[in-house]
Amino acid sequence: MTRLVDSFGREIVNLRISVTDRCNLRCSYCIPQEDVTWLPRKEVLSFEEIERFVRVLVPLGIRKLRLTGGEPLLRKGLPDLVAKLVAVPGIVDVGMTTNAVGLAHLAKPLREAGLSRLNVSLDTLNRELYRKLTRRDALDAALAGLEAAADFGFEPIKVNAVIERDKNLSEVVPLAELAREKGIVLRFIEYMPIGMGDAWSNEQVVSNAEILSILREIGPIEPVGEPDGTGPATRYRFTDGRGEIGLIGSVTEPFCGHCNRIRITADGKLRTCLFSVREHDVRSLLRSGAPDEELAALVERAVAKKEPGHKIGRPDFVKPERTMSAIGG
Ligand code: SAM
Repeated sequence: MTRLVDSFGREIVNLRISVTDRCNLRCSYCIPQEDVTWLPRKEVLSFEEIERFVRVLVPLGIRKLRLTGGEPLLRKGLPDLVAKLVAVPGIVDVGMTTNAVGLAHLAKPLREAGLSRLNVSLDTLNRELYRKLTRRDALDAALAGLEAAADFGFEPIKVNAVIERDKNLSEVVPLAELAREKGIVLRFIEYMPIGMGDAWSNEQVVSNAEILSILREIGPIEPVGEPDGTGPATRYRFTDGRGEIGLIGSVTEPFCGHCNRIRITADGKLRTCLFSVREHDVRSLLRSGAPDEELAALVERAVAKKEPGHKIGRPDFVKPERTMSAIGG
């Protein structure tokens, strides 16, 4: 029974934890290309602070955690954090979202520490395009990381791809074919307006409906049952049984009505929505010796005011000040 129920009756069971704002890629939709100012080390929550926060949240109803960033693999000692979080009674699942660059070395210790689920972000299989989109020549390292994840038994492995019309629409088919070949769950996530200046435009968003029509050219596909009610993806599979595709229509088909997440930034600010314009300062409480009850009360108050949904496309939409990489995607 969760105590984290917002004013729209949504029960919050998921916490996304950004473990660093640093990243080794510079994806144009996510992070500035140069002169990125990272958080000073002392402003970033320690593993002990993260663990304490999670322990306070479990009795309130949080059961699932996802580590993100920035690039979570850049956080030194990450397997130690995973081990601490997996050991918290009441936590049933610890996953991670990563670009997989560096995963070839970390897949084994992370798996051994108890990390169960992996989402790998990969927007193209073309080396030159990857270099263009991410400003780093790291496709081989990402693919090696994906391979290592499969070798060390991560299950499921999901590949998340963001498609921008003028940049990588050509990649829908190759990515879908990779999913079919390797039995990976592929998810297309709509491009969202967050953080990066005025680069976003509605025309660049490739809707679920459009992706679906491209996928139909590869082979016959059918819906996979009902969405599980908590996940944001509408799922499909090819009728020959190989590969599953999920479509996450964050912009054209928002799933805010089912949102069961809150998130905490690397510098300890609680956000009740990716698009929140207001943050709640958890770090100050953690560092001022506040008792658990006070932390719990802050989270309960914040959740009670969780936003009904994002307002993308509406005149009153306000873009969050922080970039996606700084919030933790
Ligand atoms: N570095 C890790 C990674 O690449 O998965 C974790 C952080 S990254 C911010 C998390 C996810 O956010 C990635 O899948 C990325 O593609 C997605 N993302 C970033 N900016 C986005 C945007 N403007 N619209 C949609 N997805 C975005």
